Amino acid sequence: AAKAAGKDCAVWYEPELRQRQTERIRVVERLRHSLEREEFVVHYQPIVDLAGARTVAVEALVRWLPPGEAPVRPDLFIPAAEDSGLIVALGEWVLRRACAEAAAWHRAHGVTLTVNVSPRQLADDEFTAKVRRSLADTGLPAAALTLEITEGILVREGVPSAQARAHLEALRGDGVRIAVDDFGTGYSSLAYLRDLPIDVLKIDRSLMPADSDDTRQIALVRTVVDLARSLRLTTVAEGIETPFHAALLHELGCDRGQGYHYARPMPAADFAARQRPAEAAEAA
Ligand code: C2E
Ligand code: MG
Ligand code: MG
Ligand code: MG
Repeated sequence: AAKAAGKDCAVWYEPELRQRQTERIRVVERLRHSLEREEFVVHYQPIVDLAGARTVAVEALVRWLPPGEAPVRPDLFIPAAEDSGLIVALGEWVLRRACAEAAAWHRAHGVTLTVNVSPRQLADDEFTAKVRRSLADTGLPAAALTLEITEGILVREGVPSAQARAHLEALRGDGVRIAVDDFGTGYSSLAYLRDLPIDVLKIDRSLMPADSDDTRQIALVRTVVDLARSLRLTTVAEGIETPFHAALLHELGCDRGQGYHYARPMPAADFAARQRPAEAAEAA
């Protein structure tokens, strides 16, 4: 309809577009201000071993806390932070905070940490050095850290930039593990598996079948799990929301699961409290 209406439409939409750009600039200014004041918090979502339902890892997920407002979910501000380049500073803050909080959990329970990394961070010359500094300063071992990357690093140039690859290889040499996040959502995902040094494949929750009648979707997930296993990657299924999901993915040979069936992302204190009963049981 927009195309058919032609020029009139363009005239009609232009002020709206300009308004949206102005809004985005305002959001970026507020984000920058909030970063200076540390008005962010990291929440943690358990990643569970599907064989034993034990928490083996946590994913760090950032939340924005503008004063006097409800916490803002990342989908609403990460795109603006990425466009503006602010994600480089924000991502560094998240990494540092998450390493500091997870170091104690790793010491006590062997739980490892996984952190999302934006393509813009991998274009930063200092990325490898920043990760090494976060690990050294917090005492989290390199082998207890996984970095999650998305298709974004491929989409821009068709192949991963030499710089992104150099960062990933350097860190992997230290023992850091690399995960492909949201696998199954894009078009060039297979090129990733061929071109990048990776250890873990996270299956996007959009691939999760609704129930046992959803046979086409089950066939798709089975194929993705088989593919990952044949490449000797650790598999993590996102969006485990029901007992059916947990049982199915375990049966298909998937290693780990993450989702509301186990737990929602939670503040650090809640995660620590959740781990304590396990500690008490081990001591008994
Ligand atoms: P993601 O990395 O794929 O993280 C998983 C998202 O799925 C989280 O959303 C989580 O709350 C949600 N989720 C987990 N289990 C379930 C489930 O069973 N059902 C459903 N429907 N959803 C589930 P969240 O926390 O809103 O984060 C959204 C995205 O924002 C993340 O997706 C990630 O791409 C990005 N993000 C979050 N934190 C950071 C960060 O520190 N840096 C960067 N660059 N991106 C981040
Ligand atoms: Mg992720
Ligand atoms: Mg994901
Ligand atoms: Mg996602």
